[in-house]
Amino acid sequence: MDPIDQDRTPRIPEGQGEGRPILWVVIPCYNEEEVLPLTAPLFRDQVRSMVEAGKISSRSRILFVNDGSKDRTWEIIKELAEEDEVFIGMSQSRNRGHQNAVLAGLMEAKGKVDITISIDCDGQDDITAMDAMVDKYLAGVEVVYGVRSDRASDSFFKRFSAESFYKLLASMGVEAVYNHADYRLISDRVLQEFADFKEVNLFLRGMIPLVGFPSDKVFYKREERMAGESHYPLSKMLGLAFNGITSLSVQPIRWITILGFIMSFFGFLACLWAFFKGLSGSTVSGWASVICILSFLAGIQLFSLGVIGTYIGKIYLESKHRPRYIISERTWIPKERKYKG
Ligand code: UDP
Ligand code: MG
Repeated sequence: MDPIDQDRTPRIPEGQGEGRPILWVVIPCYNEEEVLPLTAPLFRDQVRSMVEAGKISSRSRILFVNDGSKDRTWEIIKELAEEDEVFIGMSQSRNRGHQNAVLAGLMEAKGKVDITISIDCDGQDDITAMDAMVDKYLAGVEVVYGVRSDRASDSFFKRFSAESFYKLLASMGVEAVYNHADYRLISDRVLQEFADFKEVNLFLRGMIPLVGFPSDKVFYKREERMAGESHYPLSKMLGLAFNGITSLSVQPIRWITILGFIMSFFGFLACLWAFFKGLSGSTVSGWASVICILSFLAGIQLFSLGVIGTYIGKIYLESKHRPRYIISERTWIPKERKYKG
């Protein structure tokens, strides 16, 4: 019998996978006490099977990033780390959002690993697609995007809104891989360069393509959440979409400029018309139309101010250079402890 099966708290055998790339699977977790006990063994089995196949080093790890959960998520992560050394965990000092949690994990891995794979902890993304991702890395690709080939398990509305989102991004000139969320392999080389992208307004799936390097895609079928509820209701999704667009593109400002130009051109024509009507003796009637135009223009102006304000707000946030994540705890003792002051 395989020695791994005999041991209740199995360790990945030492020496196996030597000279192979070290992989850290980075998994953000926020209030996931229901799903974590179900998916953690699946992640472990996947990593172990890749170690046994000689694709990755036995020093590979599964890193859970607790994003300031209010339930037992962090306790569960600590228990997992006690149980099996393949699991490690770190906790953010408070909830900062999915993107910041993934970034925290990636930056922790930087310099310690050869490759990272980021994936959600709810089992929606096909864990076995990691095999194909690692194969592509071994063949020389530095970034591998996990792409959903099928969204049948999502509700019609979620599918429709998600697909519109990618199309909108593309129309704004944002280079985001269609139907790719945050399931991706990144090599350490890419992480090193990515560390220089210092913005606090994060939209990882739009930022990673900007780093460059050879990339490829792996297609997988998206499943339903194994347990618990989605943290991305419509309002949060719209927020992410708006943030993504305004973080990566100044196209809306260009559109406003063009719109302003067109509106003033028509306004000018209307003035000419009113002027010649006045000269010809017939007074300009139509209080209603004036009010309509005025309120329409006022609406457009306010909307435009809002969009421009958003960009200014982002400059304000960026100019503060606040930390993008703060780690309060780790299940292991880091080699170089950093103290402030
Ligand atoms: N998540 C997080 N912080 C948050 C919200 C979500 O770390 O503030 C994690 C969550 O635990 C999950 C992933 O981000 O692993 C994706 O969230 P979810 O599955 O709720 O989103 P959906 O798949 O429905 O878009
Ligand atoms: Mg999910």
